[in-house]
Amino acid sequence: MENPRLYQFNLPQRNRPPDIILSDPWYPGVQSCWERCTTKRSVDPIYGIRAVVIHATAGTSSSGAISVMKRRDDPASFHWLVPDEDEAQHGHLVWACAPEALAAWHVRNAASHPDVNGGAGRVNHWSLGIEVVNAQKNDPFSDWQIEATARIVRYCWAKYPNLKHVVSHAKLDPGRRSDPGEHFDWLRFKSLVLVGGNDELPALVAQATPLSRLRSPASSPCCDVGPVTD
Ligand SMILES: [Zn+2]
Repeated sequence: MENPRLYQFNLPQRNRPPDIILSDPWYPGVQSCWERCTTKRSVDPIYGIRAVVIHATAGTSSSGAISVMKRRDDPASFHWLVPDEDEAQHGHLVWACAPEALAAWHVRNAASHPDVNGGAGRVNHWSLGIEVVNAQKNDPFSDWQIEATARIVRYCWAKYPNLKHVVSHAKLDPGRRSDPGEHFDWLRFKSLVLVGGNDELPALVAQATPLSRLRSPASSPCCDVGPVTD
């Protein structure tokens, strides 16, 4: 088992992938909560992006994760959500949840690590956040979840010229967080990101399935993100 508090790798300036297309429709209705759980970035929204932070929800459904964005007290937010294997969207699409141009609230302001952007704080302002739906304890990640997460990172690597760090939430906030957890196959994930073995994966390149053909996700009570403020 790997220790999630050590999960990090850096993206080389060379071998930046060509533009990657994601199948990432907005999670239905998610736009209504942006005003309360996102912030204008303090850095340039393209050139200021330095890191992608990998999370797991500690819940069992996409709707449970989205409920954290919508709650009144201590909302949290993230840019993408990778569905769990028992959800209809699994294998087809990842959900876009917050505009990349805005800071989502997925890491506490006080959290930082000297290995990541020189130890700078206020990570949300210069990072993008990916949540993978996973209960963490005794819950394996599917191969597709790892592949889909890697594909999002490759999309970001192609788009953001100063993006360098790919890091776990656990490394940035080890006293409070352990996500994405020991079951997340970080070595395979790293290899997929750096080598790009899944750039042509049909399920990830294909057009998104129309939402009308997908059943509604079941509800879930918990999520590992937050509390975070700007
Ligand atoms: Zn997290």
